[in-house]
Amino acid sequence: MEMVGDLLEEEVKELRESYRSRRTKSEVWRKSQLKGLLSLLNDKEEEIFKALFQDLGKHQVEAYRDEVGILIKSVNFALQNLKQWMTTKKVPVPNLIYPSTAEIVPEPLGLVLIFSSWNFPIGLSLEPLIGAVAAGNVVVLKPSELAPSCSALLAKLVPLYLDSKAVKVVQGGEVVAERLLEKKWDKIFFTGSPRVGRIVMTAAAKHLTPVTLELGGKCPAVVDYFENSREKKIALKRLVSGKYSPCSGQACVGVDYILVDENFAPALIELIKATTKRMFGENPKETHSSSRIINKQHFLRLKSLLDDPKVKASIVHGGSTDEDNLFIEPTILLNPPLKAHIMNEEIFGPLLPVITLKKIEDSIEFINSRPKPLALYVFTKNETLKRRMISETSSGSLTFNDTIIQYLCDTIPFGGVGQSGFGNYHGKFSFDTFSHNKPIMRTGFLTDFWFRYPPWNDYKLGI
Ligand code: NAD
Repeated sequence: MEMVGDLLEEEVKELRESYRSRRTKSEVWRKSQLKGLLSLLNDKEEEIFKALFQDLGKHQVEAYRDEVGILIKSVNFALQNLKQWMTTKKVPVPNLIYPSTAEIVPEPLGLVLIFSSWNFPIGLSLEPLIGAVAAGNVVVLKPSELAPSCSALLAKLVPLYLDSKAVKVVQGGEVVAERLLEKKWDKIFFTGSPRVGRIVMTAAAKHLTPVTLELGGKCPAVVDYFENSREKKIALKRLVSGKYSPCSGQACVGVDYILVDENFAPALIELIKATTKRMFGENPKETHSSSRIINKQHFLRLKSLLDDPKVKASIVHGGSTDEDNLFIEPTILLNPPLKAHIMNEEIFGPLLPVITLKKIEDSIEFINSRPKPLALYVFTKNETLKRRMISETSSGSLTFNDTIIQYLCDTIPFGGVGQSGFGNYHGKFSFDTFSHNKPIMRTGFLTDFWFRYPPWNDYKLGI
């Protein structure tokens, strides 16, 4: 264990020296790192697909859609905008301090620690890294030990494509993570569970290190009635894939459960069944279009959610499991008890509770009575309902008539609120997350006011 500590000490020392050399601050260095990432993604696509398949059984189309493709988009966006993001911004000053000028200079924070989770082990490791290097920081990236092939691949490839004295990948589980957290960082960026988020924040508090916590929670999908059959069909595809497709439901922004009007529920369930069949076949165990559950522990956790007899009784579709293949069938549950675990913890798997309401507007109260979700999805054409959802609910993001696409949009911040986390990233927001916006004021000697300075003995207050 001491060896791990000594090794980390050496690594961190080298990173600090690289930062002190000031080379990471230049635009040239930042661009070279981003281009390095782009080359890594392009040259090693096959190896990435292989590692994602080994860790999660992820199909390469899904791997490209959810990880490699998104990363290429994000690196390109950063490369296109970096110069502008780095540019000093002049801002107006109040007359009171005339003739001063003011500007804002973004500067890197320094030494950054990134922890990522296993469900998108490449995407959620490299997406924050894009922001960290774009902002000119030196970085330790610790991928999740639960996706060992991806973690090993990152440890092998990152030093080949990026400045190995400024960006390091440290592999390991809880013990290594704890050793890392003992050190003083200038920023910790964490993607993972609220439980570990608390541990990270507690450790960060000791050094007053700022943190971004990208956590999870239960993301509801509110589904209103659709008249138009074409729109209904598209909505169903987006809804069903938003539940079962990203990593078999093991996605922070995946649909956790559905809220629907009780009159529409029976028809909706039939539509979900039909759409699920179209996507994953009559025998979903044989499909190649679905990832597997990450490990036995998570498989058993999901199975135990179904073991509650009242929950089991609510299954209206699916429900079969296969421990040897870490497979859980896409499953629909109608009105499982609201007090059951399945309705109170993040499901993170292919189990889909459908909760019926007297009327669709009741979904607002339902959502507000629970922790603020990372994402809220609302399928509706009703503009009044849309307006009410915007103004009367709170969530990390709110998407109408689709799922997951908010993750792809570089011009909006991605992050949680309340228990789903705080801080955000993507696009310029990533750059800002890893920067300090330093205000600079300049002034001359043209004017000066006597009343700024004591003593004021001669001034009559008129009392
Ligand atoms: P996790 O909290 O178990 O692990 C996340 C990271 O923390 C890993 O790198 C892990 O090695 C490290 N870690 C584990 N135990 C630790 C400890 N005791 N001390 C310090 N570090 C420790 O999360 P996970 O299981 O990898 O991911 C699933 C969770 O992440 C879900 O809650 C999901 O919603 C959330 N998530 C959020 C986002 C997002 O962008 N908001 C994305 C993906 C996943």
